[in-house]
Amino acid sequence: VAAEAGTLFLGLDAGGTKTAAGVVTPAGEVLSHVRISTAELRLGDALANLIELGRRAMADAGVERVAAVGAALPGPADAAELRLLAAPTIPEWEHVSLAAPLREAFRCPVAGDNDANAAALGEARFGAGRGRSQVVYFTVSTGIGGGIVADGRIFRGARGTSAELGHQVILPEGGPPCGCGGHGCLEALASGRGIAARARQALGVPSGEPFSAEDAARLARAGNTAALRVWEDTALYLGIGVCNAVNLLDPEVVVLGGGVATGAADLLLPGVRRVVAERCMPRLARPVEVVTAELGPAVGVVGAACLAMAAVEGAEL
Ligand SMILES: [Zn+2]
Repeated sequence: VAAEAGTLFLGLDAGGTKTAAGVVTPAGEVLSHVRISTAELRLGDALANLIELGRRAMADAGVERVAAVGAALPGPADAAELRLLAAPTIPEWEHVSLAAPLREAFRCPVAGDNDANAAALGEARFGAGRGRSQVVYFTVSTGIGGGIVADGRIFRGARGTSAELGHQVILPEGGPPCGCGGHGCLEALASGRGIAARARQALGVPSGEPFSAEDAARLARAGNTAALRVWEDTALYLGIGVCNAVNLLDPEVVVLGGGVATGAADLLLPGVRRVVAERCMPRLARPVEVVTAELGPAVGVVGAACLAMAAVEGAEL
């Protein structure tokens, strides 16, 4: 039996490639989930299209109103005003406050944050970190992002741009260039893009030929030694990144999400766990669990809904 309409939450997830909306119960159950490409969202007025998508999700769930709306945004954001500080995928939203128009459209409280923080909160409340209050979340997909949940709340830092877990320097000498301007960052090595680049080199794939991390995974599973080596190195780099986070934050659980970490968990998770066991400070390595995310493609919508729940609870998340 669905909860009463007034206790349901709308999650909006404006991602780099896909934009989704869904109605979520206070228990984290997804009642509706609609998705379009972010390219489609950007045809005409992106904000009007996002509101329309939210209304479609509400119609699908058979509700006319929700208790609050949460938004997961594709970049570092001022959480109070839902204002993106940088928005490479939806540039028309850069420095624009989305809070007032969303509040007006849905006539309820609104809340938001960047997508990695929202996902971290979603996994901490209803996914692989449920029941825990100290959770570190890595999202490993095209790039690498992260979120820190400390005492059950998102740790935001001074300007709301904390938890750039993908920009830890893993190889200070000779590491590949990173999108942030640095070299040898975790993202440059172990993101989907980084893995594909290293595998391309290791396997001698011609530069004109399309080749992805998925292709590298397929080859590794077929027993290709060079491809297996690429994944071993990836697990080492990611494992060191996880160790740094564990030594710094002493979490109960580290959740690895994103398409690469969940899609290639068979190739990554055992190695990452081994690196953590071998390299973390022993009193920290033993109790920490390293697990893959559980919420799948709905993580953004559930995470956004968690932000909405916090807005209603009056909690400072
Ligand atoms: Zn970087």
